[in-house]
Amino acid sequence: MNIIQFTRDFPDEASCRSHFRGAREREGIVCKKCGCKKHWWLKNKDQWKCSACDFRTTIRSGTFMQGSNLGLYQWYLAMAFMSFSKKGISASELQRQMGIRNYDTVWSLMHRIRQAMGDRDSLYGLSDMQKVDKSSVVFNYMSTSYTPFSKYVDTHSTVKSSKVSTCNTLQWVHIVIANLTGTLLGVYHRINQEYLQLYLDEFCYKLNRRYFKDRLFDRLVIAVVGN
Ligand SMILES: [Zn+2]
Repeated sequence: MNIIQFTRDFPDEASCRSHFRGAREREGIVCKKCGCKKHWWLKNKDQWKCSACDFRTTIRSGTFMQGSNLGLYQWYLAMAFMSFSKKGISASELQRQMGIRNYDTVWSLMHRIRQAMGDRDSLYGLSDMQKVDKSSVVFNYMSTSYTPFSKYVDTHSTVKSSKVSTCNTLQWVHIVIANLTGTLLGVYHRINQEYLQLYLDEFCYKLNRRYFKDRLFDRLVIAVVGN
């Protein structure tokens, strides 16, 4: 997905709503009341009805859009801007681009999307990452300030690396940290420590999917659907 495709595929609220409905149905609708996974779509009500207990599920219910007063078109626009920009976009810039009067509305919208990114990444464990990249190395300095990795990975081994191999490996760590610092200082300027994790979630989400390219937007829609 790029900006040309986005404007073609999502020109209005109805197109975004239809797409989001499809994304939710592919992920699976689960009835809050009885846990049933079979639902009927009520076209006139714009809701799903549970086939077992008739409980209704709205298009936003149970997703990161729940309770938001913004239209789906605005959510899709925000997701597009956030996924298309490699280094991120500030809330004030997004506010300007989307023509929304209230800064806090945009700020809150972006944080919800970042929360969806973080939640999505939390589904994947370190063991899965090692299968993707077998050269990955996890460092543990046995400090009491570090949580033991054995809590989070299925198997792990201790390797004492040489100065040369450590320098070669750590250069990528330095590059990632430099990119993160550049993003935090260059794009967001001032970050309240209370919300730092959300900015880190966005950075990590994009870093982990840096080869997704045009598919990043579609993956972000699935993240916002949640589960
Ligand atoms: Zn039900």
